[in-house]
Amino acid sequence: MPIDATQSYDDENIFAKILRGEIPSSKVYEDDWAYAFDDINPQAEIHTLVIPKGAYVSWDDFSARASDAEIGGFVRAVGHVARAKGLVEPGYRLLANIGAHGGQEVPHLHVHIFGGQPLGRMICN
Ligand code: 5GP
Repeated sequence: MPIDATQSYDDENIFAKILRGEIPSSKVYEDDWAYAFDDINPQAEIHTLVIPKGAYVSWDDFSARASDAEIGGFVRAVGHVARAKGLVEPGYRLLANIGAHGGQEVPHLHVHIFGGQPLGRMICN
C-alpha cells in the first residue's frame, strides 16, 4: 500500500527495524551515513537498496531536512555501492519512489539500485 509522503516518521517501519538490527538483512555496505542491503524481492539481477541512517520518510523529507553532510554521505554511499557491485560499466538505474503516485511502500527513504541486465525503458505503463 503506497504511503503518504507527508506523513511523520514512523520508528517502527521495516527499514528502521533493519537499521536497528531487529530484522535480518543481507548487508552490502555500511558507513556513518548509509546502510545498503539486497532487496528481499529482487526486480533485476542486482537489486540493492541504500538507506540513510537518519530518520527520513522520503526523498522529499531528506532533501528538505537533512544536513549537507548527511546528503553528501548518502549520495556518496549510493555511488560507492554501484561501483563496488561493478555496475558503472555497462550501467545501472537508480530509483527513489516518493509517496502515492511514486508507489512508495516503505516510509524510510530508500534508493533502489538496479543492474546486472538491460533494464528497458524508464516507466512501465
Ligand atoms: P518501495 O516500493 O517503497 O520503493 O520499495 C520497497 C522495497 O522494499 C521493495 O522493493 C520491497 O521488496 C523491499 N522490502 C520490503 N520489505 C523488505 C524487507 O524486510 N527486507 C528487504 N531486504 N527488502 C524489503
